[in-house]
Amino acid sequence: MTDYKFNTECIQAGYTAQSGQPQVLPIVQNTTYRYYNAPDVAKLFDLESGDFMYSRLGHPTGDALEKKIAVLEGGTAAIATSAGQAANLITILNIAEAGDHIIACANIYGGTHNLFGVTLKKMGIETTFIDQNSTKEEIIAQAKPNTKALFGESLGNPALTVLDIEEFAAAAHEIGVPLIIDNTLASPYLCQPLKHGADFVVHSTTKWIDGHATAVGGVVVEGGKFDWNKYADKFPGMVEPDESYHGLKFYEKFGDQAFSVKLRAQMLRDLGCTMAPMNAWLAFQGLDTLHLRMDRHSENALALAQFLQNHPMVDWVKYPGLPGDSEYERAQKYLPKGASGVLAFGVKGGKAAGEECLQNLKLASIVVHVGDIRTSVLHPASTTHRQLSEEDQIKGGILPELIRVSVGCEDIEDIIADFDQALNKVGK
Ligand SMILES: *Cc1c(COP(=O)(O)O)cnc(C)c1O
Repeated sequence: MTDYKFNTECIQAGYTAQSGQPQVLPIVQNTTYRYYNAPDVAKLFDLESGDFMYSRLGHPTGDALEKKIAVLEGGTAAIATSAGQAANLITILNIAEAGDHIIACANIYGGTHNLFGVTLKKMGIETTFIDQNSTKEEIIAQAKPNTKALFGESLGNPALTVLDIEEFAAAAHEIGVPLIIDNTLASPYLCQPLKHGADFVVHSTTKWIDGHATAVGGVVVEGGKFDWNKYADKFPGMVEPDESYHGLKFYEKFGDQAFSVKLRAQMLRDLGCTMAPMNAWLAFQGLDTLHLRMDRHSENALALAQFLQNHPMVDWVKYPGLPGDSEYERAQKYLPKGASGVLAFGVKGGKAAGEECLQNLKLASIVVHVGDIRTSVLHPASTTHRQLSEEDQIKGGILPELIRVSVGCEDIEDIIADFDQALNKVGK
């Protein structure tokens, strides 16, 4: 293991060309791997060897991506998945089953809220949703004997709240469960939750990690510090003999990578939610420039937020990097290099004005996405949240006039000019 700084690791970690080999990570497009004798294959099935066998369980391109992200997040191992949703799903299923309970912040990404509140519920796993500003005592008060995990987002999507990760970690560890942080909106460049006490980090690599809106994917990163033996009664699957592997005990055998080995050996094996080689290559390529892009996205977002704040057609602006924002203090602590590229603002004149402003934009494109190099906008009230009544929209923090912007890496003068002309035409 090398000891390079973060920006160097963005470019160098995960793959090093050997003499005479391709300089750039190759896409290894294969379903299966050849062996010359049967005992070598038997070793793979017994988890005695970590070599490749069949691409549902892993492949060299995904392996390089996993290694790079593990380095960037400061983890011991990582597992790439077919989508961010799959990363969240299998992280929970690796340690919880029917009859169990988890605690999650209420203001998490809508897809994850549905996954936990509806789909996991059907599978017998119950979720208690809590305020993301809960204190340690308030979180602990929600714990039950069958609680298996605490979950939150470092930077909430789309609420743009900053989580007090240290407070949540303290609560999780008093309950005796791991803290899982979805770090998608911050990216490992802006925030490294493991350093603040989180036990696992999940990402939708679809967003900033890919960075160019090319491939859907996810990743789970293991911190390696959670002591499964201490809470052996809660997590028998981590410590007790596993019947599908001849009595193997994951924690005893694999130590600080046990969770990841189990995730691959059982969740990828049984559910097949593996990232494809091409998508892994695109995410890997995206990481090469993560540090450059996140600086620019954050810088542009702050400049656009400041411009909007002073525009006569704008009612309010929400951006954690904006002095005076409710999240500003926490952003200074948890996102010291920048507050990422997503902001929200309200156009004066309500829903119709919001919709009209969106239509007037020329450079910014209307897409259901964040984390692209291109400036992207969305008016949730008339699109993603249109099935909800206006009352329910407001309860969920979606004001009728709210426009969400994922600020791209274009010249800030062009971005500002686009929003200026779009706002000035509203109602004209
Ligand atoms: C997009 C997103 C997800 C889901 O990821 P997919 O790759 O779309 O499955 C999960 N969490 C957050 C915070 C997201 O922004």
